[in-house]
Amino acid sequence: MIRFENVSKEYPDGTLAVKTVDFQIQEGEFFVLIGPSGSGKTTTLKMINRLIPLTGGTIKIQNKKISEYNIHELRWNIGYVLQDISLFPHMTIEENIAIVPEMKKWESGKISQRIDELLDMVGLDPSTYRKRKPNELSGGQQQRIGVARALAANPPIILMDEPFSALDPISREKLQDDLVELQKQIKKTIVFVTHDMNEALKLGERICVMKDGEVVQIGSPEALLHSPATEFVRDFVGTKP
Ligand code: ADP
Repeated sequence: MIRFENVSKEYPDGTLAVKTVDFQIQEGEFFVLIGPSGSGKTTTLKMINRLIPLTGGTIKIQNKKISEYNIHELRWNIGYVLQDISLFPHMTIEENIAIVPEMKKWESGKISQRIDELLDMVGLDPSTYRKRKPNELSGGQQQRIGVARALAANPPIILMDEPFSALDPISREKLQDDLVELQKQIKKTIVFVTHDMNEALKLGERICVMKDGEVVQIGSPEALLHSPATEFVRDFVGTKP
């Protein structure tokens, strides 16, 4: 589904954030990018939807180079959830979801039905939450709206950049559990960035460990736990908060 071929990124100031990265993400896979702060995870993620241009190599989605996609087409096919989803405070939850560009083409009945479906998917009762404003939601509920919005146009790929890391531990665990359940239903290709190994082990079907802009190991949670490729991976997997 997503293929990185010798991808690198050097920022204009000369920082080599990603050095020759090569891997593939399968369709329907939950793929986690993990590594310490500054290891190149966010840069790697944002290159997929062209928020950051690559400086070397190629990324392909369904065998087509991302540079060959129309940028709007690319972004419609890729949902994106951030740590701080920044809902518009003056707009209701339903309005905040309906700003997704693809939905603007739909008739109002279809939009309304889709908002109900999306709120159900992320575990929020539509009749309670549709008309609320963001400040009437907890942090965890706001992140659920972020997930709903990313799913709105039913894109095959979802990118998630530390979506739960600002939440309290209990909300975070609940969201992780719910995301695992949701993924069983929707089977999207998910690329999820975190620096929390417990989160990675819980969510990831495969985990890609990054360090200093390089991929150190890619494997299942079991492979990382039982056959760490380097001492760094062993320490990282062993370090539990
Ligand atoms: P991570 O997500 O793992 O914390 P990042 O991808 O954000 O890592 O950053 C990787 C490296 O690139 C770091 O050294 C960071 O300081 C650097 N970096 C990130 N963004 C920029 C930028 N816009 N300009 C220059 N250097 C950057």
